[in-house]
Amino acid sequence: MQSEKIDPTYIGHNDGCAFIIPKKLFQMKLKGVIPPEDLKLFSKYMRKTIIGFDKARKTKYGNKNKTKTATTPEFWERFESKAKELGADLIGYIPVNENYIFKNLTIYGKNAIVLCMELDWEKIKTAPSYFCGMEAFRVYKELGDVVIELTNYLQEQGYKAEAHHPFGGKLLFPYHAVAANIGIIGKLGLLITPEFGPRQRIGIITTDADIPLNRKKRDFSELEEFCSNCGACVKSCKAALEEPVEKIKGSGVISRIDRSECIERLIDDNYCSICLKICSLGHPK
Ligand code: SF4
Ligand code: SF4
Repeated sequence: MQSEKIDPTYIGHNDGCAFIIPKKLFQMKLKGVIPPEDLKLFSKYMRKTIIGFDKARKTKYGNKNKTKTATTPEFWERFESKAKELGADLIGYIPVNENYIFKNLTIYGKNAIVLCMELDWEKIKTAPSYFCGMEAFRVYKELGDVVIELTNYLQEQGYKAEAHHPFGGKLLFPYHAVAANIGIIGKLGLLITPEFGPRQRIGIITTDADIPLNRKKRDFSELEEFCSNCGACVKSCKAALEEPVEKIKGSGVISRIDRSECIERLIDDNYCSICLKICSLGHPK
């Protein structure tokens, strides 16, 4: 891989769009009686998540002379089957919205490929438990690997591309996932999809490859109606705010989660995840 840096496509300029990954999460430890082999596995997922996060940030250096933009439907067919083979469950496309890039951060590529990976129900249904903590980091690691591998693939084909790791990217993931027609924002503020409810993680690849934008729009009206009459996640979440707030002004992405309170719950309670367990839209059909 060439390691020269080129000018970014966008630099985040929205004052209201700032995001800091809480360093505390990198030091999270599981609690309870945990068999040594599970502890070892968790440490592996955690370590590889951190390595992947760093690798993703460095993919911007592989973009020297990557000037190709034209694609064909066959190219995307191949890309999607590769993504599925690697383990991605949902894929959507949307131009990057530069208003929802975190302030002062640089983005390489004008389009976003949004990828989601399911969190396993058998683990999530035990929330809060160490199984959930392990599952959260397994999917961070595995989806992170997929995002990095596909970014490298796009670069090898001559397209500018940058990986945004599911553990923390440089642009607002839920906004881009909804705009890419993957799902809706649920009452608590999480991405809800017809396939998995809230049980997925999101990663993004930004690229200059021309994306397929003429796909059939999916109808989420049933999902929206169900969610607007429910509220189970808000009642169960100890970090839920009384009133929803718009995460970033103008984005349409609302949240009822007090972020610092949620982070405490994640750290103190084996990655909590009660909101993922409680939502019946995410229960196996
Ligand atoms: S638990 Fe209910 S309110 Fe919350 S996201 Fe799921 S359907 Fe919507
Ligand atoms: S992880 Fe726990 S504290 Fe955070 S939003 Fe979900 S239920 Fe609330």
